Amino acid sequence: MRKRASAAQAPELPEAGRLEAIRAPLLAWYDRQRRDLPWRRTKDPYAIWLSEVMLQQTQVATVIPYWERFLARFPTVEALASAPLDDVLAAWRGLGYYSRARNLHRAAQEVVARFEGRLPSSAEQLLTLPGFGRYTAGAVASIAFGEQEPLVDGNVARVLSRLFEVEGAPGDRAREARLWELAGALVQGERPGDLNQALMEHGATVCRPESPLCLLCPVRGACMALRHGRVDELPPAKVRAEPKRLTLALAVWPHEDTLLFARRAEKGLFGGLWELPATEVEPDMPDATAATRLSEALGVAVTAKGALGTVQRQLTHRALTLRLLRVAGPQRPSRAPAFHELRWCTPAQAEGLGMSTAMQRALDAALEAGVLGG
Ligand code: SF4
Repeated sequence: MRKRASAAQAPELPEAGRLEAIRAPLLAWYDRQRRDLPWRRTKDPYAIWLSEVMLQQTQVATVIPYWERFLARFPTVEALASAPLDDVLAAWRGLGYYSRARNLHRAAQEVVARFEGRLPSSAEQLLTLPGFGRYTAGAVASIAFGEQEPLVDGNVARVLSRLFEVEGAPGDRAREARLWELAGALVQGERPGDLNQALMEHGATVCRPESPLCLLCPVRGACMALRHGRVDELPPAKVRAEPKRLTLALAVWPHEDTLLFARRAEKGLFGGLWELPATEVEPDMPDATAATRLSEALGVAVTAKGALGTVQRQLTHRALTLRLLRVAGPQRPSRAPAFHELRWCTPAQAEGLGMSTAMQRALDAALEAGVLGG
């Protein structure tokens, strides 16, 4: 076991016997109870990596069809690396958190360029690839390659904080360090990938945030929180920040049977994705002033020709209001200062563009408003 230099009063790691009293029943429980998920039937590191990326912010049931379709479309690292980014973003449409797709694509290109198309097996090397944080590196190294590398996600953090009575709120640095240390101690031994998955599965199905099923728990005999009657108070609830309000004005600019679409710069909200050209406005800004903002973003003068309604979307950290504004101008742009790229597309052509769900809803609303005369 790798022992880290620790602060003077840092708690010791549990004894080997105590760790084994958790490992053995947990693995046995996992063998009996684990859910049959498609990525658990493959040994392909690329397919396992993809599942881990998709699962980071998305529920299992949602991920399954996306994972299957994505693999059918990009069956290998090479296929993904050589695909246009727009195709990758289009395949990701609806999953959200598009930076995951952009990083996946860039990482695939690096795997081809630096590792001859084969994912490296060590967490240390995986961490050098775009999009790989400590969790993903630990997951891929342990599940795909059998390396004794830990991982800590929200489920594992909850299980460990109850099992070992780890104090502190989510986000607390000393707590996080302690959780990784404990996960690192537990994963030493046979079947590290299964052990990590067992911890996650246990957190998802038994040691749940509310009403954990302690009576059915395979490691209840080793649980400090249960012994001390503290299951309800560990871990303490995370204090959630209020989502920020953000209002965007969207230019709906029809020309014959097309609309103007813009691709955002790579960084920031919806980075690299396509949209009806959007710019931030104050919530109560008059249409004419919003049109002036859109003129600045597009680099040509446009005037407002009427409001087409709004679309509301709740993202994790933002309450988004999209104001649809029909616009027109004497000069149709083909490039613009605020955007990576502009295109005039029919709705059918727009289906091939990587667009967020929020922007897709806005486009649907514009089309329903009859902006193309249909
Ligand atoms: Fe979680 Fe309860 Fe099991 Fe402790 S006994 S690990 S709190 S399910």
